[in-house]
Amino acid sequence: MISPWHPSQTNDRRNGYELWITCSDCGDVVVPAEVCELHATMTATEHRVAFPCSSCGRRESIVVTGQDVADLLDAGFVIHGSSVAAELLEARPCAEPFSWDDLLSFHEKLQAWDGRVDAM
Ligand SMILES: [Zn+2]
Repeated sequence: MISPWHPSQTNDRRNGYELWITCSDCGDVVVPAEVCELHATMTATEHRVAFPCSSCGRRESIVVTGQDVADLLDAGFVIHGSSVAAELLEARPCAEPFSWDDLLSFHEKLQAWDGRVDAM
Protein backbone atom coordinates (compact mmCIF):
# COMPACT_ATOMS: atom_id res chain seq x y z
CA MET A 1 0.00 0.00 0.00
CA ILE A 2 2.71 2.49 0.95
CA SER A 3 6.15 2.82 -0.52
CA PRO A 4 8.99 5.34 -0.28
CA TRP A 5 9.57 7.28 -3.48
CA HIS A 6 12.02 10.06 -2.58
CA PRO A 7 13.77 11.34 0.53
CA SER A 8 11.76 13.77 2.61
CA GLN A 9 12.76 17.43 2.16
CA THR A 10 10.58 18.74 5.01
CA ASN A 11 9.76 17.91 8.60
CA ASP A 12 6.65 16.01 7.44
CA ARG A 13 7.94 12.47 7.13
CA ARG A 14 4.97 11.58 4.90
CA ASN A 15 6.58 13.61 2.08
CA GLY A 16 8.89 10.73 1.30
CA TYR A 17 6.08 8.28 0.57
CA GLU A 18 3.31 7.60 -1.89
CA LEU A 19 0.23 5.47 -1.41
CA TRP A 20 -0.96 2.91 -3.91
CA ILE A 21 -4.65 3.13 -3.32
CA THR A 22 -7.93 2.28 -5.05
CA CYS A 23 -10.45 4.93 -6.11
CA SER A 24 -13.93 3.45 -6.54
CA ASP A 25 -14.29 5.25 -9.89
CA CYS A 26 -10.77 5.16 -11.35
CA GLY A 27 -9.30 1.97 -9.92
CA ASP A 28 -5.71 1.86 -8.70
CA VAL A 29 -4.00 5.25 -8.39
CA VAL A 30 -0.84 6.57 -6.75
CA VAL A 31 -1.28 9.47 -4.32
CA PRO A 32 1.43 11.45 -2.48
CA ALA A 33 1.22 10.56 1.21
CA GLU A 34 1.29 14.18 2.39
CA VAL A 35 -2.19 14.84 0.94
CA CYS A 36 -3.70 11.81 2.70
CA GLU A 37 -5.01 11.58 6.25
CA LEU A 38 -5.45 8.65 8.61
CA HIS A 39 -8.69 8.70 10.62
CA ALA A 40 -9.93 6.60 13.52
CA THR A 41 -13.24 4.81 13.16
CA MET A 42 -15.74 3.52 15.68
CA THR A 43 -13.86 0.20 15.82
CA ALA A 44 -10.45 -0.30 17.36
CA THR A 45 -9.14 -2.46 14.53
CA GLU A 46 -10.14 -0.40 11.50
CA HIS A 47 -8.98 3.01 10.36
CA ARG A 48 -9.72 5.01 7.21
CA VAL A 49 -7.33 6.73 4.85
CA ALA A 50 -8.89 9.84 3.32
CA PHE A 51 -7.35 10.88 0.02
CA PRO A 52 -7.97 13.02 -3.04
CA CYS A 53 -7.92 10.80 -6.12
CA SER A 54 -4.97 11.75 -8.32
CA SER A 55 -7.02 10.90 -11.42
CA CYS A 56 -10.55 12.29 -10.90
CA GLY A 57 -9.85 14.61 -7.93
CA ARG A 58 -12.79 13.28 -5.93
CA ARG A 59 -12.13 12.92 -2.20
CA GLU A 60 -12.61 9.39 -0.99
CA SER A 61 -11.59 7.09 1.84
CA ILE A 62 -10.79 3.44 2.24
CA VAL A 63 -10.60 1.13 5.24
CA VAL A 64 -7.15 0.03 6.38
CA THR A 65 -6.29 -2.48 9.09
CA GLY A 66 -3.41 -4.28 10.73
CA GLN A 67 -0.01 -3.99 9.09
CA ASP A 68 -1.15 -1.22 6.73
CA VAL A 69 -1.98 0.97 9.75
CA ALA A 70 1.40 0.16 11.32
CA ASP A 71 3.17 1.03 8.05
CA LEU A 72 1.32 4.35 7.83
CA LEU A 73 2.23 5.23 11.42
CA ASP A 74 5.87 4.35 10.71
CA ALA A 75 5.72 6.67 7.69
CA GLY A 76 4.73 9.63 9.86
CA PHE A 77 0.95 9.51 9.72
CA VAL A 78 -0.97 10.50 12.85
CA ILE A 79 -4.44 9.22 13.65
CA HIS A 80 -7.10 11.92 13.60
CA GLY A 81 -10.08 11.37 15.88
CA SER A 82 -13.34 10.26 14.39
CA SER A 83 -15.96 12.92 14.02
CA VAL A 84 -19.68 12.51 14.34
CA ALA A 85 -21.81 13.28 11.31
CA ALA A 86 -23.22 16.81 11.54
CA GLU A 87 -26.80 15.52 11.26
CA LEU A 88 -26.40 13.71 14.58
CA LEU A 89 -25.52 16.97 16.33
CA GLU A 90 -28.53 18.91 15.01
CA ALA A 91 -31.37 19.73 17.37
CA ARG A 92 -34.58 17.76 16.84
CA PRO A 93 -37.32 20.15 17.91
CA CYS A 94 -40.20 18.20 16.33
CA ALA A 95 -39.95 14.60 17.44
CA GLU A 96 -37.72 11.61 17.69
CA PRO A 97 -36.73 10.00 14.37
CA PHE A 98 -38.77 7.10 13.03
CA SER A 99 -37.85 3.74 14.48
CA TRP A 100 -38.39 0.24 13.11
CA ASP A 101 -41.37 -0.09 15.50
CA ASP A 102 -42.91 3.04 13.96
CA LEU A 103 -42.52 1.55 10.50
CA LEU A 104 -44.11 -1.74 11.62
CA SER A 105 -46.98 0.13 13.24
CA PHE A 106 -47.54 2.12 10.04
CA HIS A 107 -47.67 -1.10 7.98
CA GLU A 108 -50.17 -2.65 10.42
CA LYS A 109 -52.40 0.41 10.15
CA LEU A 110 -52.06 0.39 6.37
CA GLN A 111 -53.10 -3.29 6.18
CA ALA A 112 -56.09 -2.66 8.47
CA TRP A 113 -57.22 0.32 6.40
CA ASP A 114 -60.35 -0.42 4.36
CA GLY A 115 -59.89 2.37 1.88
CA ARG A 116 -62.22 4.91 3.45
CA VAL A 117 -60.96 8.18 4.74
CA ASP A 118 -63.07 8.75 7.84
CA ALA A 119 -61.56 12.09 8.66
CA MET A 120 -62.95 13.73 5.50
ZN1 LIG B 1 -10.80 8.68 -8.96
